[in-house]
Amino acid sequence: MKVGITIPAELPAAAEAYAAAGVKIFRVRPDKAPYKNCRRCTKVLPDQQPNPKYVPHRPEDCKCGVSTCHGFWAATTDLPTVRRWWNEEPHANIGAPCKLNGWAVLDIDPRNGGYASLCALEQRVGVLPGTTMQVTGGDGLHLLYRSPGFDLPGEPFPGIDFKHNGYILLAPSVHVSGTRYQWAGAPGIFVKPSTAWPETLLPRKEKQPTLPRPRPARHPFPAAPAGGRPGGGKMWTVADLVQHVMDSHQGNRNSSLYFAACRAHELAEQGLLQLADAEQALLSAADAIGLTTSEARHSFDSAATRPSDRRRAA
Ligand SMILES: [Zn+2]
Ligand SMILES: [Zn+2]
Repeated sequence: MKVGITIPAELPAAAEAYAAAGVKIFRVRPDKAPYKNCRRCTKVLPDQQPNPKYVPHRPEDCKCGVSTCHGFWAATTDLPTVRRWWNEEPHANIGAPCKLNGWAVLDIDPRNGGYASLCALEQRVGVLPGTTMQVTGGDGLHLLYRSPGFDLPGEPFPGIDFKHNGYILLAPSVHVSGTRYQWAGAPGIFVKPSTAWPETLLPRKEKQPTLPRPRPARHPFPAAPAGGRPGGGKMWTVADLVQHVMDSHQGNRNSSLYFAACRAHELAEQGLLQLADAEQALLSAADAIGLTTSEARHSFDSAATRPSDRRRAA
C-alpha cells in the first residue's frame, strides 16, 4: 500500500523529509539564479572566453566533488549534503529533477491558457488518470506520473508542458508571487507518483495495443453511456467523474477525487452540470472507496477554491 509522506512546513525540514524518502533534490534560489560551477566544470568564463581550466565531461559523470555544480545534476538524497545546503540557505526552494526521479510531469500554466488546454485535451483523449498532484505557487497544477522512460515533446499544447528533462519545485517552496506550492488532496502529504504516464499522451509509435478495462461487477452509480466518455469527444458527465474516482487505487484516492472535483466545478461554472448533483455523487463515491467524510469534504472544497485562469481572466 502506498503511504503518503508527511512534509514539514519549513523548507529545511521539508528538504530532509524528501531526501529521506528517496527523492533527489537540489537547492533553487528564490529568484532561480543558478549556482556557479567550480572552475573545472565551467566551460565558458563570464567574459565569454573559453575557460582554460575546464575539463570536458558530461554533468552526469562529474567527479569534481563540488556539490552545487551542474544545476539539477547535483540533486541528491544524501542527508548530510541536504542538511548543509539548507543550513547555509534556509530560504532556498526545493527543486526535484523529473527524469532523475523517474517522473514525467504534466505542468499546467494558467497564464498561457493551461486549464483550457487541459479541458480540450481531456475531451480528446479522455480523463487523465488520477495521480499525485501539486498546486503550484503560480496558480498552476502539476500532475506527477512515472516516467515512460523516453523523452516527451516539450510543450505540446498552449500552457501545458510535459516536464521530463527539467525540474519542478516541491511544496512548500515559495513561488515568486509569494504563494507556497502545496500538495493537492491532503496538504502537507506527498505521495510518490505510482501512476504511469498516460498511454494516451505517448508518442504514437510508443503506444501499446490496449485491452479494454473491465468494469466493476457491482457499481453503485450509473455508468456513463457508451460513447459518452471524453475520448468519444463528448463533454463528460457526473457518472464519468464518479467512475474516475471509483477507478482510483489506494495511493491516489485523494488526488483522483480532487481531480474530479476540479472538473465538476469547472463544468458547473459553465452551466454544464449541477454542482449539487456532482457533489453528492462524488462524496458518495469517495465514501465507497474508503475516504473519510472529512478527507473527501476537504478535497472537494479545496477544488472550489482552486485558482483558475478563467476566474483570473474575469
Ligand atoms: Zn565542479
Ligand atoms: Zn563537473
